[in-house]
Amino acid sequence: LFINNEFVDSKDGSTFPTENPATGKEICRVSEAKAADIDAAVAAARKAFQPGSPWRKTEPKQRGILLNKLADLMQRDLHYLASLESLDAGKLYSSCYALEIQACIDVIRYFAGWADKDHGSTLPMDDGFFAYTRHEPVGVCGGIIPWNFPLTMFSWKLAPCIAMGNVLVMKPAELTPLTALYLGSLIKEAGFPPGVVNNPITAGYGKTAGSALSRHMDVDKIAFTGSALVGRQIQKDSAETNLKRVTLELGGKSPNIVFADANLDYAVEMAHIAVFSNSGQICCAGTRTYVQEDIYDTFVKKSVERAKKGNIGSPSSLTTEYGPQISKLQKDKILKYLEGGVKEGCKIECGGVQVEGNNGHYIQPTVITGLTDEMTVTKEEIFGPVQQIYKFKDVSEVLKKANNTRYGLAAAVFTNDLNKAMTISNGVEAGTVWVNCYYKMGPTLPFGGYKESGFGRELGQYALHEYTEVKTVAMKINAPVW
Ligand code: NAD
Repeated sequence: LFINNEFVDSKDGSTFPTENPATGKEICRVSEAKAADIDAAVAAARKAFQPGSPWRKTEPKQRGILLNKLADLMQRDLHYLASLESLDAGKLYSSCYALEIQACIDVIRYFAGWADKDHGSTLPMDDGFFAYTRHEPVGVCGGIIPWNFPLTMFSWKLAPCIAMGNVLVMKPAELTPLTALYLGSLIKEAGFPPGVVNNPITAGYGKTAGSALSRHMDVDKIAFTGSALVGRQIQKDSAETNLKRVTLELGGKSPNIVFADANLDYAVEMAHIAVFSNSGQICCAGTRTYVQEDIYDTFVKKSVERAKKGNIGSPSSLTTEYGPQISKLQKDKILKYLEGGVKEGCKIECGGVQVEGNNGHYIQPTVITGLTDEMTVTKEEIFGPVQQIYKFKDVSEVLKKANNTRYGLAAAVFTNDLNKAMTISNGVEAGTVWVNCYYKMGPTLPFGGYKESGFGRELGQYALHEYTEVKTVAMKINAPVW
């Protein structure tokens, strides 16, 4: 565990294995945090946050300099971080190297810039009074993150949290603890001194380490990314303990709407990417592909051809397009969803089975049709390489269908008609809408959900509010009449 800028064993000495999803083999064992370790991490963070502590006295500009230094070190070690992330999470090395970790670095630099630029304001007040607001840090923030984007989720939470002067206790997912721990060594090297910025990184299981954090009386805020099921539990934990602030980034079942006037081949390719990137393990994946009836048959045919074409293989190979699922449990869960879907009447156009002759957790890229709104596969997040294609007639029908879900994380529309693009983007209930593109994200663009996809926003200026308290100061002025 990484607590107080030191790597320490867990208090009871327990460890757990982390495996390579591409081979099913153990990589190494990692110290397992339990409640006592979470207590130690929170105590270290609280000490660093005491009034008058070196961290509380660190100037905002200096917080930005430290974050930029961390970004420099991540840039230096990009190849190592990408390799480790690929090994532990089964993610494509090419994507980790060229896109994801570079994007983490960009996010850290973006928030480094905000460290000395977020401020309160002066307010109109009755004569004889002066009023202003201060933006103050929330305090000890807990981060609980999933396995599908380990470093991305870490940086989305760490950067605004530290920029705004908070301290952080991070619990990475038990399936992917390695890059988070390596980041610990970079945090130390960057010069966040021990006891000043505590970044205790406490790998451990959700039910023990995670809930010890979300139920902790001395944690002021939890920033959670993960499933809706656990999100509800975190909210409940907060209500039952100290009403700590909670932000939730949860699952999705995002509609991707393709009109007949769209550029067909481009839309097929983007719809494919929207589902199959990261082996379908993306919260904002375009899992419900809605295609206008005039082009439906051609679209399905082209989508099936595309899904059969890609290379399935080792995540470390630069020619691999589809890597493994994170674990056997996830693979089995996806296959069970498909089995259930077939029982409910949907048709598997291609894939639908695991890849044989391989100990990794691979599933063939799958396309399914013949779906209705009532089917479980339409309602629930499958979180795997499964494209679901639906037929629609017109704007009003597809908007109703698109919004007929508990989730509201993202949506996309492909059309060359501005009116359709605007009607869909205004009408769809989702935190992000992409027009003629998918997964276009960046440090400046806020990200978060409507409905059961959670609340609060990460990235962009909006994220700063999640890590600050607003203090109002009203002051009486005894000014002589003049
Ligand atoms: P999960 O909810 O099972 O686990 C997420 C984290 O919560 C892990 O660190 C886990 O250890 C911890 N946890 C589990 N039980 C807990 C408990 N009782 N108390 C406290 N912590 C607990 O999710 P997952 O399977 O790791 O990730 C997949 C899910 O995450 C999907 O539903 C996906 O859509 C969602 N996700 C959302 C976003 C987003 O930004 N909205 C991003 C990535 C993933």
